[in-house]
Amino acid sequence: MRMTTNMQAQVKRAIAALALSALAISSGSARAAASCPALRWTTLGTAGGPVPTAERSEPANLLTIGERRILVDTGDGTVDQLARIGLDLGGVDTVFISHNHLDHTGGLAAVIGLRWMNQFPGVLTVYGPVGTRAVVDGIVASLATPGSIGFGLGTPPPRPAGSVRVIELADGQSLDLGQGASVKAVANSHFDHDGQSHSRPDTSNVSLSYRFALGSRSLTYTGDTGPSAAVTALARGSDMFVTEIIALDALLGEIRIRRKDASPEMLSGMERHLSTHHLRPEAIGEIAAQAGVGRVVLTHFAVPPGPLPQYEPAIRAGIAARYAGPVDLARDLQSFDVGCRP
Ligand SMILES: [Zn+2]
Ligand SMILES: [Zn+2]
Repeated sequence: MRMTTNMQAQVKRAIAALALSALAISSGSARAAASCPALRWTTLGTAGGPVPTAERSEPANLLTIGERRILVDTGDGTVDQLARIGLDLGGVDTVFISHNHLDHTGGLAAVIGLRWMNQFPGVLTVYGPVGTRAVVDGIVASLATPGSIGFGLGTPPPRPAGSVRVIELADGQSLDLGQGASVKAVANSHFDHDGQSHSRPDTSNVSLSYRFALGSRSLTYTGDTGPSAAVTALARGSDMFVTEIIALDALLGEIRIRRKDASPEMLSGMERHLSTHHLRPEAIGEIAAQAGVGRVVLTHFAVPPGPLPQYEPAIRAGIAARYAGPVDLARDLQSFDVGCRP
């Protein structure tokens, strides 16, 4: 079909209108971004380690706060999950580690090593509890051999130690992250046992929870945690509370099936550990209600391997017994925004 002059003019007008509306949308979204910078939590991996699962990647998260992209925990597979959302390692210059259990740090070597090997500019800053420096020093030491081999580019590779620095945080410490963003860290109860607190700032036995704020908006993240007054106080008034969860009865049932060799003492020790060092739905509901958070996002699912939906009704009922706000069960690569109030 040949287009008449009239039809050609109509097409041109339509194209011009589309271009104008696209411009309006992009300038509108640019204005919105300027007046309401992003505060977004992306669950890269939602498994509750340390048992690898086919359904979910190991614990890792990406925080978008204004223009910055920050990793919060870096379980195994973090770099693959970043690739799946289209973000390369050059876009990340900061990591926060909640605690140095390997399900939360298993992917840190790849983050540091591949960032160095790709020679992305800038220094990666890793924040975490006491003990994080030793972990990172070990990773850097492991890069000596690939460093001595070189990258085949004709010039010696940069020193791996120059690509990363560590700042260890104490219980209660706050940091200014720039551009109106800040973070506060508190020690939680993940390493407490037998009623005795082992979360002392002078040891590596500290598990930190973080509250990130941007202007008047905030979100609180707790990695592995038992019931904790410190976490409740940290989360008070947060728009979003991101937390681990354990389906204790289901998990213990699975352990009993898989570990026929386990003695009653071992099983009761396991039950005590899992119930005091992790958060059951009722405990999450209690914290969320007491802290008055706006919504709850569940991740780090300590449940038996397999599809999550079979545990969802019990999880929701446990939380709803104490907390009436919205609750999301996060999937890998899902994002949650804390929007601006009108
Ligand atoms: Zn964990
Ligand atoms: Zn842990």
